[in-house]
Amino acid sequence: MTRYRRPPYPYCPWCAHSLSKENPFRQECSSCGFVLYHNSSPCVGALPRDERGRVLLGRRGGEPYRGDWNTVGGFLQYGEDPFAGLKREVKEELGVACEVDEFITMEADTYGTDGPALMNAYFTVRLAPGAMRPQDDVTELRWFPLDGLPENIAFESDRKAFRILSQKTKRSSGHGEEP
Ligand SMILES: [Zn+2]
Repeated sequence: MTRYRRPPYPYCPWCAHSLSKENPFRQECSSCGFVLYHNSSPCVGALPRDERGRVLLGRRGGEPYRGDWNTVGGFLQYGEDPFAGLKREVKEELGVACEVDEFITMEADTYGTDGPALMNAYFTVRLAPGAMRPQDDVTELRWFPLDGLPENIAFESDRKAFRILSQKTKRSSGHGEEP
């Protein structure tokens, strides 16, 4: 079981002096003056669609939520362009390139129960032709219709993104106005 540690942090990362926990999101070092800000980690989630409107999910090979279904994607690297990060994650997990299509939503979440805070931006993507194979801690890939998604989707932010994608898809196909 993974044990997560969240802010506030005990020591200054520069000079190792003890940090005040008075403001857990802005910890100023009284020795060297460094200010340690805590923000959600930015993540990107890719929602690949096929010609039938299905979405691709990967099965998680690692904790948290091992064995559950998850959007393709992950953490941005420090200073990384978000679109470059999205393409990098798709390439790492599926082995194919992609084009970013449409912004869907941004959602706050945590990395596992009580894990560190995330902010995940979701985009539909079009995959380049080529043989997909799960890799980088993804054990299986499967296409799902939006009205037939699996029960065990790992993250609440993923589930919200799918609800919003379903609403957008219904609106754009003219079926969103039913009473
Ligand atoms: Zn310091």
